[in-house]
Amino acid sequence: MASAQSGRLAGKNAVITGAAGGIGLETAILFAKEGANVLLADISAPALEKALAKVKQLVPSAGRLETTVCDVSKEEQVQAMVEALDAWGGLDVMFNNAGIMHAKDDDAVNTPEAIWDLTQSINVKGVWFGCKHAVLSLRRNSKTRASIINTASFVALMGAATPQLAYTASKGAVLALTRELAMVHAREGFRFNSLCPAPLNTPLLQDWLGDDKAKRLRREVHFPSGRFGEAIEQAHAVVFLASDESSFVNGHDFVVDGGLSKAYVTPEGPAAPGPT
Ligand code: NAD
Repeated sequence: MASAQSGRLAGKNAVITGAAGGIGLETAILFAKEGANVLLADISAPALEKALAKVKQLVPSAGRLETTVCDVSKEEQVQAMVEALDAWGGLDVMFNNAGIMHAKDDDAVNTPEAIWDLTQSINVKGVWFGCKHAVLSLRRNSKTRASIINTASFVALMGAATPQLAYTASKGAVLALTRELAMVHAREGFRFNSLCPAPLNTPLLQDWLGDDKAKRLRREVHFPSGRFGEAIEQAHAVVFLASDESSFVNGHDFVVDGGLSKAYVTPEGPAAPGPT
């Protein structure tokens, strides 16, 4: 296991939003294993404390680990979160991952305006604030390279029949703003990429599916692999994007979806292996 002095992210200072669960927490664990110093941020203070205890337990050799309560839709909170890393030497990696999918999100006719606004304020404005204060921090700390990763979704690439219009629109906006920032800041050495996960076994999905096993099965069958993804499978991709291994990857929609967006799977599933 890597320590703070070794690993693919050795010595890098990273902020992760939505770090108390799901993709964010798995990424915090891997970042710590790969030698990064990690500031875990989330809106939920009790969940954050549990998350910190888990990272410390799983990665006893971790470097600096701290938490901060931050609602990403509030600019002053995002600013304070990022500025806290100035005492560490400034951020090198920012994972703008916090996001919501509201149960009342629906189609064009039935989505309540308040749910539309709430979804955009967290999923889009929160990412913008994160990117804005990351750039200000990088310039302030004279950084010449950095990686910013923004969590979008596969629905931004292909739409979803669910329906969940506010969520899908918000994730499309994340792809668009990430590509533009990648172009604008490339000569400064700051890379911006989007992560596009497909449905995963995280609290966000569990809340939405509830105990409806039939609903789960109806959705799993659309995957070439016949299963939802796991948060750790996203976290491995984020480590790559955060590390210098991806130094020439910029403005990319990094899709980690088990092939979901690339294939039409019939209700019987993909063909079974057989003689060729
Ligand atoms: P999750 O619910 O497990 O984690 C999301 C975290 O964000 C939670 O800890 C929550 O407290 C936090 N959060 C919510 N609102 C916040 C706010 N205003 N400020 C700060 N933190 C806030 O979900 P997850 O599946 O790990 O989701 C992470 C990201 O992945 C989200 O952007 C989500 O849209 C995206 N995503 C998830 C799936 C999936 O199926 N789970 C698929 C595609 C994309």
